Amino acid sequence: MTTKEQILQLREELNKYNYNYYVLDNPSISDYDFDIKLKQLQELESKHPEFFDPNSPSQRVGGEVTKNFETLVHEQRMYSLDNSYSKEDLLDWETRIKKLVDGELQFTCELKYDGASINLTYEKGSLVRAVTRGDGVQGDNVTANIKTIKSVPLRLKGDFPEKFDIRGEIVLPFEGFNKMNEERIEIGEEPYRNPRNTASGSLKLQDSTEVAKRPLECLLYSIVGNSLNFDTQFEGLEKARSWGFKVPQAAKLVSSIEAVFEFINYWDEHRHNLPYETDGVVVKVNNLYQQEELGYTAKAPRWAIAYKFKAEQVSTRLNSISYQVGRTGAITPVANLEPVELAGTTVKRASLHNADQIEKLDIRVGDEVFVEKGGEIIPKIIAVDLTKRPENSLPTKYITQCPECDTTLVRTEGEAQHYCPNYNGCKPQVIGRIQHFISRKAMDIEGLGGETVALLVNENLIDNYSDLYELTKEQILPLERMAEKSADNLIQGIEQSKQIPFERVLYALGIRYVGETVAKKLAKHYKSIDAIAEATHDNLINVDEIGVKIAESVTDFFNVEMNKEIIARLKGFGVQLEISAEKLASQTNKLDGSIFVVSGVFHIVSRNELKKLIEDNGGKVSSSISGKTNYVVAGDNMGPSKKTKAENLGIPIITEQDFMEMLS
Ligand code: AMP
Ligand code: ZN
Repeated sequence: MTTKEQILQLREELNKYNYNYYVLDNPSISDYDFDIKLKQLQELESKHPEFFDPNSPSQRVGGEVTKNFETLVHEQRMYSLDNSYSKEDLLDWETRIKKLVDGELQFTCELKYDGASINLTYEKGSLVRAVTRGDGVQGDNVTANIKTIKSVPLRLKGDFPEKFDIRGEIVLPFEGFNKMNEERIEIGEEPYRNPRNTASGSLKLQDSTEVAKRPLECLLYSIVGNSLNFDTQFEGLEKARSWGFKVPQAAKLVSSIEAVFEFINYWDEHRHNLPYETDGVVVKVNNLYQQEELGYTAKAPRWAIAYKFKAEQVSTRLNSISYQVGRTGAITPVANLEPVELAGTTVKRASLHNADQIEKLDIRVGDEVFVEKGGEIIPKIIAVDLTKRPENSLPTKYITQCPECDTTLVRTEGEAQHYCPNYNGCKPQVIGRIQHFISRKAMDIEGLGGETVALLVNENLIDNYSDLYELTKEQILPLERMAEKSADNLIQGIEQSKQIPFERVLYALGIRYVGETVAKKLAKHYKSIDAIAEATHDNLINVDEIGVKIAESVTDFFNVEMNKEIIARLKGFGVQLEISAEKLASQTNKLDGSIFVVSGVFHIVSRNELKKLIEDNGGKVSSSISGKTNYVVAGDNMGPSKKTKAENLGIPIITEQDFMEMLS
């Protein structure tokens, strides 16, 4: 087999595995084997840039950074939909259209997915462009981001038309949304409010690598083009499915408006079992010629109508408001409700978000409130039934003291949340911080769980994470459910955590806004905890991707005397508080932020090794040449267009040898 054949075969295989996994939800290979094949492809592609393909499955990991999204005009306008809220509305619609077209009517019923609409353009079976709806006439070119969504086929199969647009919705399924929120909470960030906004926000992220990490999906519902090989909406959906698109199976072809009602009734009840959000049903005239006859109003097609499910709402009594304190000291007010059935579950609590929200809705204990289950997982209070407000009720006074430690709460200008500033004395904060310290992505202490941490704190055996390293077996043996063996494991787990590398220790410290990625960046830049502690605000914000918020949080952390003591103790116990000598030996700052583009085949090191060398020595690797590029490292067979571009922009093109000399 030639290299080219090998590359093509790997791409085809990987496309198939992706398709089985993300479109059919039916994985046909282990993640491990998939990764091996992907690596093989990446290696071959990097050795043979002449076979580069922007639609190779290797491109799904992202890497392209877009500062300003280009505006593109849609070839055919993206209309919105007329809404209906009752069966009468639908009957009226049917009567209206019957007067305008000849022949029998059939309808395609589809779910109305709640996400961000997108228009994908395919030419010769390849994705060439993805544009957001925007104002319907023009939208943003978000192709680089869309390519990272695994259910978007980059290459089609079957009898697809030469050129067409296909429209759909980018959604964030609940499961992935919840996981993202758990991670946000872990770094002390506010969770995202709902999947819909998070999905549409994701499309406009500048770094496509970030988009690749988000579990987005693309559900398709309509094909537009000039010479299509089908005559009805329903056939169109089937065709799209056969070309490799994800088209939900719920879509149904029916022959009467009564059957439409049945479809609506069924999904009104069953939609809660779907993995993603839906807010209604879209009914479309099935025949494309009839659609053409019916045409459009200024805003929407006459041949389609959305039926909106009633957001499920109930009213119930607000019994009390309680206040929770998080690991970072953030206060979250929670409504305790008289239990009530809503969308198939019993609701007892609702989130109140913050003080502003309570004030805006004027929510008072004793009120009869309307609770709605929308996109949010936790139901929310949307209004108060003022007609039922008890006499002599008084406006809610937001707490001024911490419910756990009675410290006066603070609220920073411009922030929604109140905080308890009693960093070292407030139990939930103390416990939460140690729980974060031992968690899997941090110090990963085996044999120690969250509940044991709480127990240790409550028994006054530890006050902060540095105390863990002085625990003795004798101290923990008397604890509840602690046996000889589990005590040994715990002590051993703590001992082993002294080997955890610096960047993870830094993350484990639980500095607000310092998540895994930021910790890596800081560790790499400063190399030791002492250097970070000494860094000034201005110095910090000069580090790539470190903004004002993070810088402030870092300097605040090291200004606390107590934190300095804890870190000194950790150091004394032998926890890794600087980059290890080996790692350090391979790193320098010689390239000092210069931006490199790497192109062609190399001999001294592989392309990936070259990239690693650039990054380890303080440089940055970019995938495309722009005015900001400092150097292009060219190997054999450098792409001719890259060469011309570099020459036109006057960017120095250096060889592999030149690069090695820069380092030595
Ligand atoms: P609206 O934004 O309420 O005017 O509704 C129109 C939007 O519904 C379209 O722009 C699509 O993004 C979205 N939509 C979701 N599911 C469907 C579907 N099955 N068919 C057509 N549009 C849909
Ligand atoms: Zn407190």
